[in-house]
Amino acid sequence: MLDTLKSRIFQGKQYIKDIRNASIKEEFRGFPVIKEGECDSSICPTGALKTNPLSIDMGKCTFCGVCERACENIKLSNGFKLSSTDRNKLIITSESDYETYTKSAIEIKESIVKTFGHSLKLRQVSAAGCNGCEMELNACSNVNFDMGRFGIDFVASPRHADGIVITGPLSENMTFALENCYNAVPNPKIVILCGACAISGGIFQNSETLNREFLEKYPVDLYIPGCPVHPLTFINGILSYIH
Ligand code: SF4
Ligand code: SF4
Repeated sequence: MLDTLKSRIFQGKQYIKDIRNASIKEEFRGFPVIKEGECDSSICPTGALKTNPLSIDMGKCTFCGVCERACENIKLSNGFKLSSTDRNKLIITSESDYETYTKSAIEIKESIVKTFGHSLKLRQVSAAGCNGCEMELNACSNVNFDMGRFGIDFVASPRHADGIVITGPLSENMTFALENCYNAVPNPKIVILCGACAISGGIFQNSETLNREFLEKYPVDLYIPGCPVHPLTFINGILSYIH
């Protein structure tokens, strides 16, 4: 007993207490800060960088940092709250600022808060992901991020889920499995796209092996950018949506 107590005291508190205001390293590449001006958009590997006006589409961006190194008008800040319920709001220009974005990017619906605010069970579907986003989603449930304390958990069966979290660019080979999974989730249900691949195809957007028709058939509730998505980005995105 004494040894157990000693061990607990030695380990201290391992979870991030205030997940909404967690500090993250300066080096983290997150919310773009853009100044009016020019940049060569051809350097961007995913077409996220556009000119006239200068903008970055966080739904396409892999946060690789190439544009930041090449162009003085772009800085990737360490702002990690990147999620939005509106695909168009993921496009950041010189007029965007992090504080306003975090307050307005997620539309809070009373029905969602009422239905899922106390408990949200999610089924994860990797639709040809590289395992980067999937590993970060696993980390959301570890002792450090401890997403379960907010009533948010991943479950094994879609029949026990309130929604699906899709990672990967949606390959043709995953079309049947993805739709089957979606249909097995009872109503009301939500769809969350996690990572540049799921939101836009990311670096695979021009691949002939993709089939993204699922996204034309079913509504998307939440977009969570990243490549991969950081656990703090994921958990804060969901919390802002259901609370
Ligand atoms: S950080 Fe994003 S916008 Fe910049 S070059 Fe990389 S993918 Fe393109
Ligand atoms: S968004 Fe990036 S990390 Fe996530 S599945 Fe695609 S390539 Fe992998």
